Amino acid sequence: MQLKDIDVENKRVLVRVDFNVPLDENLNITDDKRIRAALPTLNYLLEKKAKIILMSHLGRPLKEISKSPVTSHQSPAQKYSLKPVAKRLEELLGRRIEFLNDCIGAKVESAVKNMQSDDIILLENLRFHSEEKKNDKEFSRQLANLGEIFLEDAFGAVHRAHASTVGVPQFLPAAAGFLVEKEIKFFEQILKNSQKPFIAILGGAKVSDKIGVIENLLPKIDNILIGGGMAYTFLKAQGVNIGSSKLEEGSVEIARSLLEKGGEKIILPSDHLIADKVDVSAHLKIVEKEIPDGWLGVDIGPQSVERFKQVLKTAKTIVWNGPLGIFEIDAFGRGTKEVAEFIANLDCLKVIGGGDTAAAVAKFGLENKMSHISTGGGASLEYLEGKELPGIAVLR
Ligand code: AMP
Repeated sequence: MQLKDIDVENKRVLVRVDFNVPLDENLNITDDKRIRAALPTLNYLLEKKAKIILMSHLGRPLKEISKSPVTSHQSPAQKYSLKPVAKRLEELLGRRIEFLNDCIGAKVESAVKNMQSDDIILLENLRFHSEEKKNDKEFSRQLANLGEIFLEDAFGAVHRAHASTVGVPQFLPAAAGFLVEKEIKFFEQILKNSQKPFIAILGGAKVSDKIGVIENLLPKIDNILIGGGMAYTFLKAQGVNIGSSKLEEGSVEIARSLLEKGGEKIILPSDHLIADKVDVSAHLKIVEKEIPDGWLGVDIGPQSVERFKQVLKTAKTIVWNGPLGIFEIDAFGRGTKEVAEFIANLDCLKVIGGGDTAAAVAKFGLENKMSHISTGGGASLEYLEGKELPGIAVLR
């Protein structure tokens, strides 16, 4: 069932959104991308005169509440409240949002009952209730009772089997919102219908997160370019000296077997920017192959950048997950930046994974030059692993 085929007029539409935004010390939203990503669905529902009830999580409040003492000057109830989001959403939509202090209970039920078409309610953080993460049936039922239709538009949460993602749609007619529809469209195209040459770029710190992705992509792909911290575990598996570079000892064996399986498809960096510490004041050097003891690889080297560009230049499909260096420090961001700029000017399908890769592309001002930038870090990785995402499976 697609959103466009559902009659939502005057109906209470319960929308799971991903408003898990970063907040600073003073509870100002530092990046409202996730709120803006929900606007196509919200504007459509407004146009169709629905009654809109929004629910989301924000951070991990119960984890903090269970820890004592609380170190921040904000209480967890303030720090993890979705109230600042209501204000930002009001600004973005130019209309009033009714913010409720809870997501279930008598007050919420009565507010929902009094809604008129075009009204928008934002419920308080779902994760203030431990039942959310436990996918508790009664909690799901209480949430579901608030709406007549359920829309899943929180791509960043569909890899989690929680009450609001898989519990609620058991009780209500359910469909994907436009954001989730769009994410599915791009990832399905990548996995089932990619035009060749199809190249993946993988980077970031953790190898273990990407093993499943490499295994799933190898049969479909022409090349996998590996950079970032994860490259060093692969180089170690080849017997290269990696100095003090990021190493995932427990993944060396699997890296070795992936290299065997992948053969020439897998391309590792052949030179590196190395530093004596992870700091702006570090001494830097470019080395080929071996990294001396006491030094660590912080970015792919210029030769590797050129090699990656050579491989990418004829690509028809590119998927990228994980920065190629510690791009948060400008001096270590050149590899990521140059590859991002190169891809930006290619005329092909370019899909960027969520999380740090999306942040890097935004940092370099290249967001508009990509075909799609995913809003889900974990969800996009699990999609590429070929896993069925519970929050999407339940809609089918
Ligand atoms: P991940 O969550 O595994 O995608 O890792 C993202 C992080 O990897 C970013 O914060 C980068 O700073 C970091 N990263 C990239 N390259 C390196 C490197 N050579 N050494 C250590 N960390 C890195």
